Amino acid sequence: MTIAFMNRAKAMQRAGKDVLSFAAGEPDFDTPQVVKDAATRALAAGMTKYMPTLGDPDARAAIAQKLSADNQIPNCTADNVAIGAGGKHQLYVALHCLLDHPLPGEAPQEVVLPVPAWVSYAPLAELAGGRVVEVPTTSASGFLATPEQIERAITPRSRVLLLNSPSNPCGTMYPPDHLRAIAKVVDCAARTIAPDLVVLSDEIYEKIAYAGIPHFSIGSVPEVAERTVTLNGLSKAYAMTGWRIGYTGTSGEWGRRFIAAMGTLQGQISTNITSFTYPAIPVALRECAAEVERMRLAFANRAKVINARLAAIPGLKTYPATGAFYAFPDVSAYFGKATPAGTRINTSLDFANALLDEALLAFVPGEDFGGCGGNHLRISFACSEDQINKGMDRFAAFLAALR
Ligand code: PLP
Repeated sequence: MTIAFMNRAKAMQRAGKDVLSFAAGEPDFDTPQVVKDAATRALAAGMTKYMPTLGDPDARAAIAQKLSADNQIPNCTADNVAIGAGGKHQLYVALHCLLDHPLPGEAPQEVVLPVPAWVSYAPLAELAGGRVVEVPTTSASGFLATPEQIERAITPRSRVLLLNSPSNPCGTMYPPDHLRAIAKVVDCAARTIAPDLVVLSDEIYEKIAYAGIPHFSIGSVPEVAERTVTLNGLSKAYAMTGWRIGYTGTSGEWGRRFIAAMGTLQGQISTNITSFTYPAIPVALRECAAEVERMRLAFANRAKVINARLAAIPGLKTYPATGAFYAFPDVSAYFGKATPAGTRINTSLDFANALLDEALLAFVPGEDFGGCGGNHLRISFACSEDQINKGMDRFAAFLAALR
């Protein structure tokens, strides 16, 4: 859905229409120059051959160092790290290593997933043979699944608890104590009803946090460290979506065995990522703090602008974004109304189609994010404040004209 709306907006722009796109899930900044230079130098030097499947040892070591120092993941060495073609690919490989395809007559293993959640989680879990068990959240609960809700969702068939903080599409973050309480639930469940339970923690928006809630890695909690797989990548933090660099981090001996299994599978799927991009990884992780901070501050200002603009529109329910770069207003108060052109709006998809066709605004409909997502629109604010203000003017005018 996200890519479909982004592509439609792009096609309309190519046809000369003044479409304002808020659909893309990628930073509008360029990759830092030092990162580009590192890859260019490696290419010029002839680093163009096959590499070890899970990645160049220096790049894996740099990631292990980052996960140890910044995220406090214990016992994390280069052997606890896999590098693959983007966070999505790492998630695909990790889920295939975690989940079994059910035998005939057998129930699938379960992936406990707080929703609304990123559109790719459920299809990826299902491709790997799992069944998603949704844990519903709403703006009223700050889009946070409570430890009690998670405890109730865990069964003997639970294999994965999939967490995402900061969150796409909700724009929210789990505070450290909340994650510690969830870790306690996981530890307790693992010692009783769900011995194989693993936490898959997607932290790809880690660097884009701006409301004073510190980012916290659940994999740093000693009791669950050796049952936590931390997913991250360079796409969002370093404006490198097109490079396709994602990574997985784990802890201790359990983690090393898990990463080796990922290597076995990845060796039959894609092998290494593009060889001359590896030297860019340590450079991004070690030399780009100032650039990351500049981008974070820009996202913080944009969040302030869009949060205020949405709060001023009557009928919308919004929970202010605190991380990532998405606003996710509940637009259901407008369902049942019609546009001046006569289009009846009964769903979020109707809304997104009418906004694109009649107001030249590309938002993403919320249905595919699961749970209450069907009442929401996702608005990516990875664009200038000027575009945000113009877009919000159009959005407010569109809503005011509904009858
Ligand atoms: N996880 C989340 C929550 C995302 O929103 C995305 C991309 O939109 C990814 C993972 C995957 O990112 P990539 O494959 O570009 O590294």
